[in-house]
Amino acid sequence: MPGLEDLYREIILDHYRSPRNRGELPPPAVRTEGHNPLCGDEIQVYLAVQNGFVSDVKISGQGCSISQSSASMMSAAVKGKPIAEVRSIVRCFKSMMTIEEDSETEAQDEKVKLGDLEALQGVVKFPVRIKCATLAWNTLLQGLDEATA
Ligand code: ZN
Repeated sequence: MPGLEDLYREIILDHYRSPRNRGELPPPAVRTEGHNPLCGDEIQVYLAVQNGFVSDVKISGQGCSISQSSASMMSAAVKGKPIAEVRSIVRCFKSMMTIEEDSETEAQDEKVKLGDLEALQGVVKFPVRIKCATLAWNTLLQGLDEATA
């Protein structure tokens, strides 16, 4: 598929240059943070949950283009969605980003459109960058657990 990698690079750069949902949320929004010492990436996720929905999400932090664009795409993908759907988006994304065969294969059956997120699939070819791409997602999961505890 010629041109697909260019398109993906374009999507990743677009989110890196104009990150979505950048900023902070005041309490009672839950704040969680993640670090990827291998690369120096830092992400803070602010998560507001209301009536079983992710009513708002904001991202701050700094790091490489993969970590920051993945965080931006994550925020756009989960904002306004029901918690259950958010969890299945996270499962699908993490299963796309995994190189292990046996982990969460049941996620394949879930019908979740990852859309732009598929642009990050190419990262799997560079295992050292997988942690960059999944950082925001693991940080989001932590926030979800706190917000729904
Ligand atoms: Zn990184």
